Amino acid sequence: MKEDIEKLKDLCQENLKNSYSPYSKIKVTSALKTSSGKTYTGCNIENASFSETICAERVAIFKALSEGEKEISLIYIYSEKGFPPCGPCRQVLSEFAAKDLKVVVASSQGHQVYDFAEIYPNSFSKESFR
Ligand code: ZN
Repeated sequence: MKEDIEKLKDLCQENLKNSYSPYSKIKVTSALKTSSGKTYTGCNIENASFSETICAERVAIFKALSEGEKEISLIYIYSEKGFPPCGPCRQVLSEFAAKDLKVVVASSQGHQVYDFAEIYPNSFSKESFR
C-alpha cells in the first residue's frame, strides 16, 4: 500500500495546480485507485454560485465512474491544512467503496491513513432499501 500512496501523492502534486478556488483560496486535490488498478485525479472546482462547487474527491470519483469503474480501493486527499472528506463526499464514496477502502488525508505536514468504515460507519446505502 505504501507504493500506492506514494503514486497517488505524486499525482496529487501534479494536479493541485488545476484547482479552481478563487473564492476560498483553498486548493484541494485528490487521487484514487480503483479495484481494477487504474488511477484518477480530481481537484476542487468552485463557482460564484457557491452551491455548485464540487470537491476534489467527488471529481475524481465521478471521473472514475464515468470511465466504467465500479469500486474504489484507495483515495488520497491533499490540501495544505489536511481537510478530511466532507459528508457528501463520504456518502458518495460509501456507494462505491471497496470493503477495505482506505482514505489518506494529507497536508503539507504529512498524512494519516483511515479505514473508510471507521470514518463513515453505518452509512445509508443500497442495503437500506431492502
Ligand atoms: Zn467533499
